[in-house]
Amino acid sequence: MPRTLSPELRRALTERVRYCHEIGIYDFYRREPLALEAPVASVAETADSVPKPAFQLESREEMSPRKAAVFAKPTDENLATVGLEQNVSDPVAALKIIREDLGDCTRCKLHKQGRKQIVFGVGNPRAELMFVGEGPGADEDAQGEPFVGRAGQLLNNMIKAMGLRREDVYIANVVKCRPPGNRTPERDECETCSPFLMRQIAVIKPKVIVALGAVAAKNLLAINAPMSELRGRFYDFMPTGVRSSDSSWQGARLAVTYHPAFLLRDPRQKGEAWKDLQMVMKYLGLKPLPKAEV
Ligand code: SF4
Repeated sequence: MPRTLSPELRRALTERVRYCHEIGIYDFYRREPLALEAPVASVAETADSVPKPAFQLESREEMSPRKAAVFAKPTDENLATVGLEQNVSDPVAALKIIREDLGDCTRCKLHKQGRKQIVFGVGNPRAELMFVGEGPGADEDAQGEPFVGRAGQLLNNMIKAMGLRREDVYIANVVKCRPPGNRTPERDECETCSPFLMRQIAVIKPKVIVALGAVAAKNLLAINAPMSELRGRFYDFMPTGVRSSDSSWQGARLAVTYHPAFLLRDPRQKGEAWKDLQMVMKYLGLKPLPKAEV
């Protein structure tokens, strides 16, 4: 970085710091780039063991197509968040602090584009497994909970097929307000909202995060690659710019699979999604339910 900052860069940095303070970030440091890890389980390795998915799709009804995914490469890769929750060891209390910090958020333009309410996240604050989607849809906006519509029902089936209950995991989205018409959240919206997701992850400290769909994967990993390249492996993941209250937590492993809404549109891919989930189950030591119970 040059010793003398241009006025434009100085203004941009000042604005960035002001924004970070607004959302509870007061401490900054440099960190190494995200380390990628070699695949631990290829699609081919899992294909033979369980050829058919254990979760069922409820119908083949078409959903509204979404635009091509956009993603936000975090601009604060070198920043560390010390949220107000940093010294709070109880994750329930820490998540409450983040929610209160979020308030009736107007930080990005999604607040004035028809949202009914903020969809913060739901589930076990001590979950070993966390799912991250793209953003709330109409049902989620109405109920204030992520993944409660048809895609949510499919996600519930996927969780159940893994031998878990919905309340065992934590579920959140990259953006917490519904984009109008279920459009893909835009880059500035993802950049503005994702620090709160990072703080949630740092509080929950999951062993594994499953990114549901390309938007979530690209935002979390800051990698612009097709799903075919993103899936089938684990990534080492440490939430960007966040310091967990637990210094012993060394981050999560992150896997990528298809968004349930995509699986509703293209059920042929559910077998591929099941392979992704099997990889996660193997790592977490989970046993699938007998097929008859799913
Ligand atoms: S999407 Fe996130 S940053 Fe934007 S208004 Fe909603 S809560 Fe705030």
